[in-house]
Amino acid sequence: MITARRHMVEGVWKRLGLQNEELKAVMAAVPRHLFLDSALGSKAYSDISLPIGAEQTISQPSMVAMMTNALVPRKGDKILEIGTGSGYQTAILAHYTPRLYSVERIPALSKRAQALLEQLGFRNVIYKTGDGSLGWESWAPYDRIIVTAGAPVVSEKLKLQLTDGGRMLIPTGGRESQKLLCVDRIGSTFRETDLGDCRFVPLLGKEGWEK
Ligand code: SAM
Repeated sequence: MITARRHMVEGVWKRLGLQNEELKAVMAAVPRHLFLDSALGSKAYSDISLPIGAEQTISQPSMVAMMTNALVPRKGDKILEIGTGSGYQTAILAHYTPRLYSVERIPALSKRAQALLEQLGFRNVIYKTGDGSLGWESWAPYDRIIVTAGAPVVSEKLKLQLTDGGRMLIPTGGRESQKLLCVDRIGSTFRETDLGDCRFVPLLGKEGWEK
């Protein structure tokens, strides 16, 4: 498994031309197969998204690498993740921060991710089950926000939960396919950069899509 994991990470780094050695080591250390049903274990180290139940998916490793790299999390950043899913991206982000806040709308997924992450020794994650399209106001502002489901628009509510100098990554566009946007807050202005095409499951909720 360790060899397969290293091989997958090496392949992703080569394909994307990434230079980020710290992230590479983090991804090589996270056992992706544990975030999947054992029947899918043999596919865990292929660079593909896979089903995790409840019509949801674990993100493709290259997308996790690209998003985390573009997020540029710094040690000590307060990070909000929307869409805990399997907890795989959560495990990678948890490396960077003493305070990670993660929201998932499907209770069964949140519960399973929490149990696994606790078992793996991650104690710095605070979880919430509910509609993350509204962000998580009570802990705001955040230095970094990462949304791992596709939104119809970049919500004002989420933008306002960024610190000055903060950054958010959010797939935005259609229900089936989106553009990955990087939103930087500079004082009271927001700069959006298009990082390319992506395909995420829809962000469902008040500031997302209808069910
Ligand atoms: N990053 C996750 C992983 O590595 O497993 C994959 C996340 S999956 C692509 C997107 C997740 O967003 C799903 O688990 C879905 O239930 C969740 N989601 C969709 N709308 C949401 C919302 N409004 N609030 C919180 N989570 C939401």
